Amino acid sequence: MNKDIFLRPFRLVWALVTLTCLTLASCSVQDEDSNDGEASKVKQVITADLVLTNAKIYSFSWPEPDLEGRPNQAAPFKDGNWQPDADTIVIAQGEIIALGNGANIRYQKNDETRVIDLKGATIFPGLVDSHVHVAELGEILHRVNLIDVKSPQEAVTRAIKFESTNPSGWLIGQGWDEGAWANNYPTKLLLDEAFPDRPVVFKSLHGFAIWANSKAMQLAGIDAKTQAPIGGEILRDNNLEPTGIFLNNAGNLIKQAIPKPSEQQFESFVVDGLLQLAKDGYVSVHQAGATSEHMTAFQNLRDKQQLPIRVYPMLSARDPELAEQWIASGPKIDPDGWLDIRSVKAYYDGALGSRGARMIEGYSDLPDHRGVSGDGYGFDHELVERLMQSGFQVGIHAIGDAGNRETLDYIESVYKKYPETKNQRNRIEHAQVISPEDLPRLSSMSLIASMEPPHAVEDKTWAEQRVGKKRILGAYAWRSLRKQNTKLTFNSDLPGSDHSIFYGLHSAITRQDKHGLPANGWYPEQNMSIEEAVRAYTHWSAYAAFREKQTGILDVGRWADITVLDIDPMQLATSAPEKILSGQVVMNVINGEIIYER
Ligand SMILES: [Zn+2]
Repeated sequence: MNKDIFLRPFRLVWALVTLTCLTLASCSVQDEDSNDGEASKVKQVITADLVLTNAKIYSFSWPEPDLEGRPNQAAPFKDGNWQPDADTIVIAQGEIIALGNGANIRYQKNDETRVIDLKGATIFPGLVDSHVHVAELGEILHRVNLIDVKSPQEAVTRAIKFESTNPSGWLIGQGWDEGAWANNYPTKLLLDEAFPDRPVVFKSLHGFAIWANSKAMQLAGIDAKTQAPIGGEILRDNNLEPTGIFLNNAGNLIKQAIPKPSEQQFESFVVDGLLQLAKDGYVSVHQAGATSEHMTAFQNLRDKQQLPIRVYPMLSARDPELAEQWIASGPKIDPDGWLDIRSVKAYYDGALGSRGARMIEGYSDLPDHRGVSGDGYGFDHELVERLMQSGFQVGIHAIGDAGNRETLDYIESVYKKYPETKNQRNRIEHAQVISPEDLPRLSSMSLIASMEPPHAVEDKTWAEQRVGKKRILGAYAWRSLRKQNTKLTFNSDLPGSDHSIFYGLHSAITRQDKHGLPANGWYPEQNMSIEEAVRAYTHWSAYAAFREKQTGILDVGRWADITVLDIDPMQLATSAPEKILSGQVVMNVINGEIIYER
């Protein structure tokens, strides 16, 4: 394609003036003023608020690639190379009013109009992270950060350092990798040595395990007689004493003893998380599991017009009171798209690393064990069904092949009773290990697979031990799902994974980790093309939130949601994909406002 210009009338007044301008020399150039009668019409043209020029703009308004990832003939792709399809974007009143190549674009400006020369930076449609835990991200800034700790001892060292500036109260940490340590979990003893009198709770990276010391267990009232709840496991030593590791739902035994943050504190976690995401180029996030606390914070911030970025909360089905309240009121769509409340997050099984994911047959490295799911994991069939019936999209967490199959069976049963629920763009969160015979079911049931490219490259060292050579072929199987015409949306599941878009894109197109391993990528037949990867973080994520007509693609009349990068991932994808990892976000524009500028 090579659209020189696609100035399309988006409002009647614009249409009128464009037509006038075509016939009048007096308004044939930008910014021209004139005293004749026509000039007053020109002044009705919406004056540009913001103009971004000299950029490499990829609008993604061309037709989608095929299911193998090959670009459409009309895409700006020639001889194996991507070319930007515009260099200038003009914004007024929160919308894109013109897009094309600078010399051909006419627009009205005044003293307030800001024109920015981007000096060759790349513009993408605004990025969306479609599965996040935003309060936890903000909370990490106030806790012991255990992300990337190499050993339990290193976790303790970090906590001792943190203690020097945070001398009292519960010592909370977050981020140790329960998948990586699952064959050799640490115990309370290491923590007791360093912290005999202060309660210590270290939450794991993906939230499926808790590592606590004796003081925390004592305050939570846990001893050798304590039974694990449904869908949970307390690890014990030879004397049946709890070792300090609590898996899946058993983590709640400890968590409920931790003093709750005040409403104000919680809101500050949410704001800190959202501000971080704004800096990192995201224009919108889907909160995967919004509790009453989240909803209070989101709604307060929305009322004060202080949401830093757009939020799409998925109400937690683990908060029955909140769920009942929304069943009674039904979905609530925000006319300005800052806080659309129409989605629910439910949890069908656990995670693969900590062996909570439900498998059809035993784990390859623990054959008697099949994980937990459904009733055994506290999944409330009846509540989720009523939420769906009330018009809510549902996103169900399913990781193991049995977890996915049972989730598919469950959704199918709801479709049978209430056929209209099939149109609610229901999602499977993670869709991580899928049996070959279930692969076609996602698309035939109009489901969206909501997946994390970083999980594939982070889990690659142990995932195959868990599921073996055969089942691994249906794991993290983006291409297999695409080939079945399944709709995808990509995300980070932060703070469980690094949410950098550069890491996400690199994982999606190479299936290599940050060190470039393995050399050819881990099961590289599942790679996405760069176009598919970007679409999965923009347009397809917008689709997953019913906003694909307003955002996710750059075009006249759409929301001015724009992310500016200092590198061009489209071109680097073929020439030097490893260089994508060092990209940086230059600017983030939401609703026409620059909310971050480096
Ligand atoms: Zn999650």
